[in-house]
Amino acid sequence: MNKNDIPYKIYLSENEMPKDWYNVRADMKKKPAPLLNPKTHAALKYEDLRPVFCDELVKQELNDDDRLIPIPKAILDFYRMYRPSPLVRAYCLEKKLDTPAHIYYKFEGNNTSGSHKLNSAIAQAYYAKEQGLKGVTTETGAGQWGTALSMACAYFGIDCKVFMVKCSYEQKPFRREVMRTYGASVTPSPSMTTDIGKKINAEFPGTSGSLGCAISEAVECAAKSPGYRYVLGSVLNMVLLHQSIIGLETKSALDKYCIVPDIIIGCAGGGSNLGGLISPFMGEVLRGEKNYKFIAVEPASCPSFTRGKFVYDFCDTGHVCPLAKMYTLGSEFIPSASHAGGLRYHGMSPVLSELYDEGLLEARAVKQTSVFEAATEFARVEGILPAPESSHAIKVAIDEALKCKETGEAKNIVFGLTGTGYFDMKAYENFNDGKMSDYIPSDEDLKRGFDALPKF
Ligand SMILES: *Cc1c(COP(=O)(O)O)cnc(C)c1O
Repeated sequence: MNKNDIPYKIYLSENEMPKDWYNVRADMKKKPAPLLNPKTHAALKYEDLRPVFCDELVKQELNDDDRLIPIPKAILDFYRMYRPSPLVRAYCLEKKLDTPAHIYYKFEGNNTSGSHKLNSAIAQAYYAKEQGLKGVTTETGAGQWGTALSMACAYFGIDCKVFMVKCSYEQKPFRREVMRTYGASVTPSPSMTTDIGKKINAEFPGTSGSLGCAISEAVECAAKSPGYRYVLGSVLNMVLLHQSIIGLETKSALDKYCIVPDIIIGCAGGGSNLGGLISPFMGEVLRGEKNYKFIAVEPASCPSFTRGKFVYDFCDTGHVCPLAKMYTLGSEFIPSASHAGGLRYHGMSPVLSELYDEGLLEARAVKQTSVFEAATEFARVEGILPAPESSHAIKVAIDEALKCKETGEAKNIVFGLTGTGYFDMKAYENFNDGKMSDYIPSDEDLKRGFDALPKF
C-alpha cells in the first residue's frame, strides 16, 4: 500500500466498535495466580470477594475461561460518547525523527477525564448500579482514576467517595474540583475518617500519603458503609478485561489497512492500559498464530518489572486487601515524588506479571527527564500535550524509531497514548525550568521494600 493511502487518523465507525471485551486469560496456558486471603493464605473464591467488590465484577475477576464477555448495552451507549478513539499515524513525528519506521498511536485522551481510565470506570459504575448499590469508594493518586469514576457515577446516578493521596489533593486542586463538579466527595488520605487513616496519621505525623494507604482507607470505608462496594482502577484482571476495548479497536483499525505491527509499546503503572492494548495481539501469540514484540515502559523511580520480585504481596499499606502474585517492589516501598503519579504503584497486574515471567513481554525503565524530553518533542510536532505517564511510551517509541533509522528498517511501531497532561503543568514547569531530577532508588532503598514482603 502506498504510504499516503493511510490517513492521519483511522477512525472506526460506531457500529464497528467491539461488542465484547476480550479476556486474554482464556488463551493463557499458565493462568495468573489466584488472589489469596491475607490472613489464611487460602485462594479467594466468589463468596470471599463479594463483600468487597460488586458481584458481576467478582465473576469477571475470577473468569479465566471465557474468551469473550459481552459488553452490556448501557456501557456501549456510554462508550459511544467518546469512542471509538482514533488510531493516529504519527506522520509529523516520523518526519521530525527522519525515520523509515511507521509510528501509530492509539489516543485515549479524548474525554474529560483525560485518560483511558473511563473505559473501566463506566463498567464498574454500571455493575454497581445494576446490583442496586448506593455508591462506591475508591482511591486516587494523581487524580485521573477518581475523575473518571466520578464521571461514570454521575452518569448512572450513584454516589462516589474518593480518597485522594494528600499531596495530590493539595497540589492538584483542579483535579479535585473536577471530581466535585461531577458530584464525588473527595477526602485527603490519610484521613481521620477511617481506623487505618488514624493509625497511619499517628505513626507518621504530617505524612503526605501514598496510594497503598488510600486504598486501605477506601476499602475500610466501603466495608463500613451499607450499600457500598470498593472499586479499583488498575491491576485487577477485570480492569484489564474492560481495557481490552483499546486493543480490539486498535486491531480493527490496523486490519482495515492491512498493517501488521512489529512492536507494541505501552506505559505500565498497574498495567491496565498496556494489558488492554496488547491483549488481542497477545492472544494471537499465545495461540501460536503471530509474533509481536511487546514493551512495557516504567519509570526508573518505580521499577516494578525491571527490578521487582515476582512473589505474593500485599496490594495496600494497611494489608486489608487480598494478596496478589505479581512483580512488586513491596507494599512498603515509597517511590520518590515522580511526576508520573499514575505509574507510582508498587505492584503490577498479575496477568502481565505472568506474561513477563514467561518472556512474552519485555520491560524497560526510563528516566524522568528523558520522558519529558520525549513529551516535549512529541507535543511540538503532533500537537497533543501528552500526560507524563503516556510519555513513557512515547520515549520508547522514539528510541525504537531511531533504531530503525540506523538499520533502515520500516518497522510498524504502535504505542498507547493514554492521556493528556493539562493537569500536569507543574511537572512541565519543573522540566521547563531545568529543575527536574532523576531519582533512581538504590539497591538499599529497594531492599527495604523487599524486607516487608509477606513471608510464607
Ligand atoms: C493511570 C494512568 C496510567 C497508568 O495506569 P495503568 O493501569 O498502568 O494503565 C497511564 N496513563 C495515564 C494517562 C493514566 O491516567
